[in-house]
Amino acid sequence: MEPFTLVEQEYFLIKDWNEKFPGLTAGFTTKNTSGHNQSQFGLNFGFHVNDHHDAVCQSRETLSELIDFPLDYWVGAEQTHEVHIKKVSKDDRGKGSNSYDNAFKQTDGFFTTDEGILLTLCFADCVPLYFISADGRAVGIAHAGWKGTVNGIAEEMIRVFEKEGITRDNVSVVIGPSICENCYIVDEPVIKMVQNRLDDVGKKTYNTIKEGQYSLNLRELNKLILLNCGLSEEQIRMTSFCTSCHHSQFFSHRRDRGKTGRMMSFIGWKEALQK
Ligand SMILES: [Zn+2]
Repeated sequence: MEPFTLVEQEYFLIKDWNEKFPGLTAGFTTKNTSGHNQSQFGLNFGFHVNDHHDAVCQSRETLSELIDFPLDYWVGAEQTHEVHIKKVSKDDRGKGSNSYDNAFKQTDGFFTTDEGILLTLCFADCVPLYFISADGRAVGIAHAGWKGTVNGIAEEMIRVFEKEGITRDNVSVVIGPSICENCYIVDEPVIKMVQNRLDDVGKKTYNTIKEGQYSLNLRELNKLILLNCGLSEEQIRMTSFCTSCHHSQFFSHRRDRGKTGRMMSFIGWKEALQK
């Protein structure tokens, strides 16, 4: 069953998780908004895509109001297709929320055990990975393009959970909207890296289209990597939304030839009113 449910035209929520854990907010935005927005793209969350700074802040304010999570409680990153995951706490709130300058540098994943902080990352085709512990107290989010995927950011996140005393059989993962295998054509050097990675997982996630051209299933590859590091099928759920196919909903870096906005993935606990 599809884990993502469209709640407003602006965003999807991972419905099961939000229902199972009242106070948790986890989801993914669309490119659409009914509100006023001066962006050239639509509901754009990326500061680095040559859009008006104010328009990006406007998109962020819009989502902040819709999900009822104050913008100065967010953290954001300068994503560089590496595998560095930053453990953040309430003290970090606000960094990267309304500016690229104070975002976490060289960071493609966030992890926290605090509430009152929203982990956010930007996407337009790459794979968003959402993580939560069985008791819900720990959450993580990661950005997995082909580089981050083959370099093992999914596995890296599992290691971060284990460092916190959460064993891998107590972590659930949702694989979010991203480019599908039909839309994602890659060349030989990428497939070489994938093949190296697949030696571990022992299954194929690509097909040859013609000499030097392959279609790659990046979502499935992330799933296989997670299975290979000991998670069970039951612990992993995967979307069927493709950012390129579903053009009325999403920006796609490939489809829009690089000139496009970014969606935002988010996960975090609202602060309890009383403790
Ligand atoms: Zn597609």
